[in-house]
Amino acid sequence: MITPNMHYSELKDSYLFYNISLKTKKYLEENPDKKLLRLGIGDVSLPLCDEVIKALHEAVDDQSKKENFHGYMPEAGAPFLRERIAGYYKRRNVNLSTDEVFVSSGASDELGDILDLFDRSSSALVIEPAYPAYVDANIMAGRKIIHLPSSKEDGFLPRPSEDAKADIIYLCSPNNPTGAVFNKAQLKEWVDFANANGSVILFDAAYEAFIEDDSLPHSIFEIEGARECAIEICSFSKTAGFTGTRLGYTVIPKDLKRQGMCFNDMWLRNRTTKTNGVSYIIQKGGAAVFTEEGLKQIHANIDIYKNNARVLMESLDKLGIWYCGGQNSPYIWMKCPGNMGSWEFFDLLLTKIQVVGTPGEGFGACGDGYFRFSMFGSLEDTKEAAKRLYELLK
Ligand code: PLP
Repeated sequence: MITPNMHYSELKDSYLFYNISLKTKKYLEENPDKKLLRLGIGDVSLPLCDEVIKALHEAVDDQSKKENFHGYMPEAGAPFLRERIAGYYKRRNVNLSTDEVFVSSGASDELGDILDLFDRSSSALVIEPAYPAYVDANIMAGRKIIHLPSSKEDGFLPRPSEDAKADIIYLCSPNNPTGAVFNKAQLKEWVDFANANGSVILFDAAYEAFIEDDSLPHSIFEIEGARECAIEICSFSKTAGFTGTRLGYTVIPKDLKRQGMCFNDMWLRNRTTKTNGVSYIIQKGGAAVFTEEGLKQIHANIDIYKNNARVLMESLDKLGIWYCGGQNSPYIWMKCPGNMGSWEFFDLLLTKIQVVGTPGEGFGACGDGYFRFSMFGSLEDTKEAAKRLYELLK
């Protein structure tokens, strides 16, 4: 009889969003006249910008003409998009060759698939609280996971230590859920640590476009030594509203080698076997993001989300509540008042002011006592939620 991958039985139920939806559903059934203000979801609410829509339409038309029609696309991505992405990095003085950029159909897909590059006996370090996919993808592969808790004391940006030794090191900056961002000196410590131990860093830069402090790195490749130890995974989802359109990219420098194997060559071999490329139409839409006009337009949308963050941060500042994030990220991570647990605080906000956020415990045990607010909703809802929160906690 076939043996299934028994590691699936080790996965914990993803009860976070399920539990949130159960609780909100029950509350609405009992209180049908109430309207909820939802600051929990990580999905965007603004439509794609005009430049992207224009490029998508043109690409659809291309597909109607014999001379412009595109069938299968190159597995690692269309040269026109790989060049645009490399050009985007060049703006920050990061030099990449076009074939160090791989186009993907999103960061989630890639975060799971990239694990094909590592032996199953390798260990993975996950700094918690963390985006849940890191843990689950490694459980499915049967890997040993080292959970490194972070805290308010280290600003949710822990430094490397003996406890952090692992073959694969996940770093997410700006972080989901905490919004914390590594500065260059902190990131250099992780790069040196990875190089000293022969580890590989998987750097999740899904929120890099939200960084407004010019001194902070958008890419791990702004750090000396990273070309020898890091893979960067990025997404058009939050940068340009592609959550439903699906597009991302992964950077694997040719200098990243272990035991005589070159990860860039390995990933090309993987892609040519396991994908037939991302749709021409979507890649054309993505290429429009990294034009002058496209960048202006996506940043206008990001500014709208950042303005939501400012509104909520103002209330938290007035209340004297500790939080991080918000300034360089679409998430605000706050300490629950009065030593409340994160689910207790969730219930309080739901029942007293009809505001829905995300309990920190859902991102790892050390997230208990904290709460995440997402800034991807409307200004109107965020203003109202900030006002109600202030009235409740003042
Ligand atoms: N990485 C982080 C940290 C995220 O928060 C998300 C989505 O919320 C992703 C990756 C997934 O992005 P994508 O939509 O490109 O799959």
